[in-house]
Amino acid sequence: MQANDVENVVIIGSGCAGNTAAIYAARANLRPLVIEGFEAGGQLSLTTEVENFPGFPEGIQGPELVQNMKQQAQRFGGNYRGGDVTKADLSERPFRLWLGEEEIRTRTLIVASGASARWLGLPSEQALIGHGVSSCATCDGFFFREQPVTIIGGGDSAMEEATFLTRFASEVTIVHRRDDFRASKIMLDRAQKNPKIKWVTNAVVEEVYDPAEKTVRAVKIRDVRTDKTWEHPTNALFLAIGHIPNTRIFVGQLDLDEEGYIVSHGGARTNVTGVFHAGDVQDRIYRQAVTAAGAGCMAAIEAERFLEAEEEA
Ligand code: NAP
Repeated sequence: MQANDVENVVIIGSGCAGNTAAIYAARANLRPLVIEGFEAGGQLSLTTEVENFPGFPEGIQGPELVQNMKQQAQRFGGNYRGGDVTKADLSERPFRLWLGEEEIRTRTLIVASGASARWLGLPSEQALIGHGVSSCATCDGFFFREQPVTIIGGGDSAMEEATFLTRFASEVTIVHRRDDFRASKIMLDRAQKNPKIKWVTNAVVEEVYDPAEKTVRAVKIRDVRTDKTWEHPTNALFLAIGHIPNTRIFVGQLDLDEEGYIVSHGGARTNVTGVFHAGDVQDRIYRQAVTAAGAGCMAAIEAERFLEAEEEA
């Protein structure tokens, strides 16, 4: 491509949403350019077995699933570039994006940059992601049948996921850093009524054991009022301490809600004509691989129709 060329569609993000948008846009002969982002493959690349994505009766590994999607898009002419978009100018068309120093111009943009799970940031936690540490109870709870599990957080996600986990686990311990809960009353009540849920409040997890064994067997908990620490046996640690939508470069350009999620203007449309959203960057409710894939399909179809209408005009 020449420096002055303009892309038809640039897709930011290479998780389920971005890859599915790429499959659809590529099959519409739009030769989409996918900028993979700093977490290439999105959240699925951080999971192990995925058993709830339709079409895989035996399940499939998360990284393999996104890799398959990427190959599928490439087969139809999807073009992938590593790296992260560091700056965007959506004030006029073609839109301008910067990949480091390089400027990319595009007629339409699909933002599928996702939302990153918030982690505690402990080295032992990071080392065990996919090996007992997870940010998605819906995805990974099933693997801990009749085993004790621990979940961190005091919001609706923690309550919802703790309640969900009681279907499988022998016992679910909620660790929360305060004794006041951010969760809505109804969800807190439901969790509090569940006999399988145990509560450790005013406490934080400071270590996950044991990276050397590549499995979770316990966490070290500290009471924030007394500083007392102890080892709490558990076979899994779920984080439900929020997500951070990857929209920093769009602040002041796209309509974002108070937490930074893109505000939809119907279908896959944003407030900027020609810019579409797909997946977790807009969806704070479902956050599933299959819903993100569906959103990617919607965004690509809208981009295609938008370009077609423009050419006919
Ligand atoms: P959230 O409401 O932001 O809650 C995050 C929780 O994690 C808070 O309790 C917070 O503690 C804790 N936390 C944050 N950082 C932490 C850290 N570094 N260490 C320990 N704890 C930490 O997030 P959410 O629960 O994911 O909910 C996000 C939004 O989605 C909310 O608006 C929620 O209502 C909505 N939601 C709705 C449903 C539903 O209606 N079915 C389900 C899930 C989520 P503090 O309270 O001390 O800050």
